[in-house]
Amino acid sequence: MKNAQTDEETNMKVSAMNYYSYQLMIRQDVENHILKCRQLFHQYIVDMYAKIETERPLYIRLNQTELRSEEYIHLRDTIVNDGNVNPNELGRIVILPNTQIFGGTFTGSPRHMHEYAQDAMTYVRVYDCPDLFITFTCNPTWDEIKELLLAGQSSPDRHDITARVFKQKLKALMDFINKHHVFRKTRCWMYSIEWQKKGLPHAHILVWLINKITSDQIDQIISAEIPDKDIDLDLFDVVTKNMIHGPCGAFNNNSPCMSDGTCTKRYPRNLVSDTITGNYGYPLYCRRSVEDGGKSIVLKVRNVDVEVDNRWVVPYSPLLSKTFKAHINLEYCNSVKSIKYICKYVIKVSDMAVFGVGNMAAQLDEINQYQLGRYISSNEAVWRILSFSIHERHPTVVHLVVHLENGQRVYFTADNFTTGNNFNCILLTVQG
Ligand SMILES: [Zn+2]
Repeated sequence: MKNAQTDEETNMKVSAMNYYSYQLMIRQDVENHILKCRQLFHQYIVDMYAKIETERPLYIRLNQTELRSEEYIHLRDTIVNDGNVNPNELGRIVILPNTQIFGGTFTGSPRHMHEYAQDAMTYVRVYDCPDLFITFTCNPTWDEIKELLLAGQSSPDRHDITARVFKQKLKALMDFINKHHVFRKTRCWMYSIEWQKKGLPHAHILVWLINKITSDQIDQIISAEIPDKDIDLDLFDVVTKNMIHGPCGAFNNNSPCMSDGTCTKRYPRNLVSDTITGNYGYPLYCRRSVEDGGKSIVLKVRNVDVEVDNRWVVPYSPLLSKTFKAHINLEYCNSVKSIKYICKYVIKVSDMAVFGVGNMAAQLDEINQYQLGRYISSNEAVWRILSFSIHERHPTVVHLVVHLENGQRVYFTADNFTTGNNFNCILLTVQG
């Protein structure tokens, strides 16, 4: 019975998603007025996505009697110790179930993200540390995006195009790494998509290689220097446009990376003449000074010319940067210390701004907790409406339902819940 309802609910949700993604499609020789409305268009997609997302928890809230659960042993204790128990106060008051109920698309719920974080740690347990940590950011000046804009539009007017092009580029990047083995054969990988407030999508990617990269091979894969203009002009253009951090600090105190007068990303980095690896954090990549043969460029920061040298370069892969012409930060990771941070970083719970003080009952209301201060940007709304996944990985991790003796989860309602001598009835109901 419950499964039938779940399927019905999943179908309803999918049809709502399909309906709105149908509305967003670009059709040849057919005018789509929604796509011409700029900010109004963005408002529309956020509203429609918010509608879809609130419908689903509403279903769960209305079906809590089906879903209320408590571990068997706690249930038994309560009944044995206290004959006058009110079943309505037992168990989690309102639960926001994990993926199974939603057919795998209710992404971003804390329960769901916790599972992903556990899965990432499973990869680490089995395959050791990942080798590469890649951050791939959407570039709104890609030709593919510009070509699709209508007359008079710029890329911030069309988050649907940026989302769809980024999705395609991300797929190409993953194929580049996993099928064409540009770094070498890969053992497994995972990525998560994220949006900064109002920001474009970016992907955090972890890659495990079959043959580990040794510290003397890092320089062949990762660079943190401004390329020589005379040797490779294309690469020089991509790096100087996309891979220079800031400059922040004294040059620009209003840079978003600044907090309490220092750069949260720790720029400018120190100049080092050779790549140094250690057990703590990322390696120090080779950043030669101008005297030592390093290059420098002049950038305009708030209308002032600033000389930028290798201290400001975000580590990149020349191959990936040249191929994808975007901000692609590539880091070599080899330390156990950094892995926990990366797993947490890669799998963050959705944007939230939680405020207010609640009582215990409110704290047990997982739906309320999730919806409280949920922040949806138009970039994220488009991504979700088009049913693009925000997390993918290979290979699959299968969760086994393991529990301590008598710790299995049981489902009960006020109707099938009885106290005292009839306790066995509950078990029969559960198992039946
Ligand atoms: Zn900075």
